[in-house]
Amino acid sequence: EKVGYAIVGLGKLALEEIIPAFKHARGSKLAAVVSGDPAKARRVAAENGLPASAVYSYADYERMANDPRIQVVYIVLPNSMHAEYTIRALKAGKHVLCEKPMATTIADGEAMIAAAKQANRKLMIAYRCHYEPLNLEVMRRVRAGSIGKPRMVVTNMGRQADPNTPWDSWRLDMGMSGGGALADMGVYGINAARYLLNEEPTEVTAWSYTDRSDPRFKTTEDLIAWQFRFPSGAIANGSTSFAYSATVSFQVIGETGRLVADPGAFYGGNRLTVEGQPGERNPQIVEIDQFAREMDWMSDVVRGKAPMVAPGEEGLQDLRLMKAIMDSAARGGAPIRTDWGYRRPVDP
Ligand code: NAD
Repeated sequence: EKVGYAIVGLGKLALEEIIPAFKHARGSKLAAVVSGDPAKARRVAAENGLPASAVYSYADYERMANDPRIQVVYIVLPNSMHAEYTIRALKAGKHVLCEKPMATTIADGEAMIAAAKQANRKLMIAYRCHYEPLNLEVMRRVRAGSIGKPRMVVTNMGRQADPNTPWDSWRLDMGMSGGGALADMGVYGINAARYLLNEEPTEVTAWSYTDRSDPRFKTTEDLIAWQFRFPSGAIANGSTSFAYSATVSFQVIGETGRLVADPGAFYGGNRLTVEGQPGERNPQIVEIDQFAREMDWMSDVVRGKAPMVAPGEEGLQDLRLMKAIMDSAARGGAPIRTDWGYRRPVDP
């Protein structure tokens, strides 16, 4: 029996990636849609063979408590709305898969974690790269010592934001996004540095540059660059921007080799280049549907068949690091201690 999902928010990601991904899912199925736009919700439901009773509005959201077709509620709303709809779903007795970044404030992230504990339900943050073949291959190679001791992670994640699209207009608003490019794309680099090195940063320093005459950047920063120092002596160097040419790349430089992922975080077409190992060919990255694999992982977590890789605490750690980056940048690069004692659970 497949695990049933209610998709909350029928925007770009939900319509273009998540709902189509159910076709490729092994243990997960679309069970309901939640939208503030009744006509759109009815259309999407009909296109996916759902009955009218599987269409929800934000007002009758709590009706899900009595709907056994739904086991998992997947939150695909603007970042500032994640906390409210996650907590309401948990209180309705459902498990929650919540898009990244988990929330726009640390307090909201903590409240989501507390609500999951209180309800005794799973809360997983949707870090799709945790289930993506290139990222898994790099993790495997780093852990196996194939590049020697890792010394540097270099990651650049950003693109040109288009304020005329509905999806970027809220991303450029500090209140709704919680941090512009950093919250949207920088979070991939922050998260990657931690899972590539399998340790947590103890100190951060950051710089930002924002052209306030660019109408896109009234409330959010544009270009942010940061460094993390890790206990092993490794350093991560990251950047993010909503005003540079699209890049989703990272590399890990070890003592004896280098793994270059460019692109390293697209929905498909990721490329891995292996440097410093004579005779080694670049591995072919298998194309899979990342969203299907991520939902199937969540379904297995719910069934008790897979370990939780990205619980709420994993999302909270990134929120705390984003705040440290923004605080350091606001203070002209002043170093900020980040050794809070958090440890990642397990590798996927
Ligand atoms: P989007 O703007 O296209 O979708 C958001 C949806 O929320 C829309 O349907 C919108 O109508 C709805 N909504 C409800 N109330 C709203 C309000 N008050 N203001 C604005 N919209 C409102 O955005 P998206 O690109 O689909 O992103 C949604 C979430 O998914 C974000 O948290 C984003 O970070 C995340 N995301 C993740 C990935 C990934 O690869 N994992 C990729 C893209 C987006």
